[in-house]
Amino acid sequence: MSEEKFDLPNQSPVLPAQLKPESKFCFNCYPGISCFNACCKQADITLAPYDIIRLKNRLGMSSTEFLKKHTVPFEIDAHGLPGVKLRTTDDEPVCLLMDEEKGCTVYEDRPAACRYYPMGLLASRKQDEYHDEQHYAIVKEEHCRGHEEERELSVQEYREEQGVIEYDELNRGYLQLILKKKSAGPAIGKPSPTSFQLFFMVCYDTDRFVKFLTSPNFRKVYDISDELYESILADDIERLKFGYDLLKQVLFGEDTVPLHKDAYEKRMEERREILEARRQAEIALHQQKAPFEEYIED
Ligand code: SF4
Ligand code: SF4
Repeated sequence: MSEEKFDLPNQSPVLPAQLKPESKFCFNCYPGISCFNACCKQADITLAPYDIIRLKNRLGMSSTEFLKKHTVPFEIDAHGLPGVKLRTTDDEPVCLLMDEEKGCTVYEDRPAACRYYPMGLLASRKQDEYHDEQHYAIVKEEHCRGHEEERELSVQEYREEQGVIEYDELNRGYLQLILKKKSAGPAIGKPSPTSFQLFFMVCYDTDRFVKFLTSPNFRKVYDISDELYESILADDIERLKFGYDLLKQVLFGEDTVPLHKDAYEKRMEERREILEARRQAEIALHQQKAPFEEYIED
C-alpha cells in the first residue's frame, strides 16, 4: 500500500524520527538569542493559501499585488501543479520581510512554516484512505541555537504557542488536494492548463477568484444559494473553503458543488463529445501512418 507525503514547511534536513503531539523536545527562541534572525536569512518558505490571505491583508495589498511583489513560483509535482514560495533577496536567501533589528516585520501574520520552525509538518495520505494524517519532525540546522535552550515542551504545546492550529485547519483542504492528486496518479492523468489556473486562483490569488465568481456565467452554471454566494464574495476564508470544494469537483469529478440541471446536461454532452473525439482520433492513428511519415514522403 503506497503512502503519499507532502512536506509543507521547507526543504531543510529533517531528523528521521516522527513525533506525536505529546512528544517532548527542548527549544526556545526569543529576541536577544545569539542567532536572532539567522533562520530568516536562510528562508525557503512554501506558502499555503491561508498564509497568503493573512499576509496580503497585513500588508494592505490585493492577493495579485502580493504574489507579484513577495513570491516566486515553483512546481509542486511533475505535472506542474503550481506552488509559490516567499521571495528572498536576489543573491541570498534573506526574507524580504525581515528587519535586522526588529526581526520579522509581519510576526503576528507570519506563515505557518515560520511558526512551525524548527519543526516540519509532514502530511500523508494512504491510497485507500480518504483522510490525511499529520506527523511532525524536528529540523536541526547548524545556525539555530534554540535547540541548546533548556525549555522543554510538547509538540502540541508548541503548536498552540505558535498559533498554528488555525493555519492547519484552513490549509488542510489544500494539502488534501495535493495529496489526493499525487495518489490518484495516472487515474486522473495530467489536469488541463485551465484546471491549474483555477487551482492557482483559488489557492493563491483570491482577489482574482472574486472576478471569476462575479463573471456572468458563474451562477448560470453553479446552483448555489444567495446566502452562500454573498458570503464567498465578502469573506476570504469562506471563499477559500468554497474554492476547495470547487477544486475537488474540477480536478477529481467529485460532486461537491451543485450544477444547474441544464448546465449538468450540457457538461455531460461535452464530455461525451470529447470522449468520442478521442476515440475517433485513436482509431485514425491506428489506421494511418504517423503525420511525420507523410511529411517525409511528400
Ligand atoms: S516571514 Fe517573518 S519569520 Fe518568516 S522568514 Fe520572513 S521574516 Fe522570518
Ligand atoms: S533560535 Fe532558531 S528559530 Fe530562533 S532566531 Fe535563532 S535560528 Fe531562528
